[in-house]
Amino acid sequence: MTKYGMVIDITRCNGCYNCFLACRDEYCGNDYPPFSAAEPERGQFWMRIIERERGKYPHVVKVAYMPTPCMHCDDALCVKAAKNGEIYRQKNGAIIIDPVKSKGKKQLLSACPFRVIFWNEEKQIPQKCTFCAHLLNDGWKEPRCVEACPTGALVFGDLDDPNSEVSRLVASGKTEILHPEYNMQDKVRYIGLPMRFIAGSVIFGDTDECAGSVSITITDEEAKKKIVKTNNFGDFELDRLPADTKYTVQIKHTGYKSTEFKVITRTDVYLGDIILNRRK
Ligand code: SF4
Ligand code: SF4
Repeated sequence: MTKYGMVIDITRCNGCYNCFLACRDEYCGNDYPPFSAAEPERGQFWMRIIERERGKYPHVVKVAYMPTPCMHCDDALCVKAAKNGEIYRQKNGAIIIDPVKSKGKKQLLSACPFRVIFWNEEKQIPQKCTFCAHLLNDGWKEPRCVEACPTGALVFGDLDDPNSEVSRLVASGKTEILHPEYNMQDKVRYIGLPMRFIAGSVIFGDTDECAGSVSITITDEEAKKKIVKTNNFGDFELDRLPADTKYTVQIKHTGYKSTEFKVITRTDVYLGDIILNRRK
């Protein structure tokens, strides 16, 4: 049986918003009974792009764009909260809010911990992404957002078909879910979700020059080490570290006194300019 799912590769997303615009183009002002009523011109983001800034200006600022539709969870809290079938799972796995049965049921918004259900004030109904259920029913192979993505960041297909690209990506072990703690078996999965980085800039104190090719050893509490070297500008960075983890950062270079920092990756860590002083 078909079970639709999506993989979103954050490392390929450049934040162009084509998916967001395609979604708005499909749904604003257009009714698709029995799957959805027209989305209002303002205030709803069925395909929201979350922009996550990492680091602090002017040091190591990166932006990760995270397209965030409904996760079409297999074990969805929204479906459980809808006692009279206002929200249901199609045979193909897509989670649908019935625009007729859900009228007046604003409380259904708070059933979704991902906050991807929106309230239509004019029509008095909750609304969200349908995986373009009306198009799939008409024989389309993918939703409008996936078709519009120029970078291949969105991959859609049948999770029950082991040969589909979406299944192969899931089987590769590279995908993660956005909030595993919700434990809702999301059918939307991610590659490259932003983690934490530790970065800094090393300078030779005696010459005031950028310290290139200096070894930086980053050790976690289980004594696992990762070693990076500074580049020609004296900068170093180790990315994709887990959050809320303690590390020791050791900076060593022949002829110079070593320096050590204790850090916790509550946020991304930028150690600033680190001066290496000559041994006497
Ligand atoms: S993400 Fe929210 S609205 Fe979508 S299926 Fe899961 S619980 Fe329901
Ligand atoms: S269309 Fe693709 S690249 Fe553009 S914002 Fe959406 S997912 Fe990212």
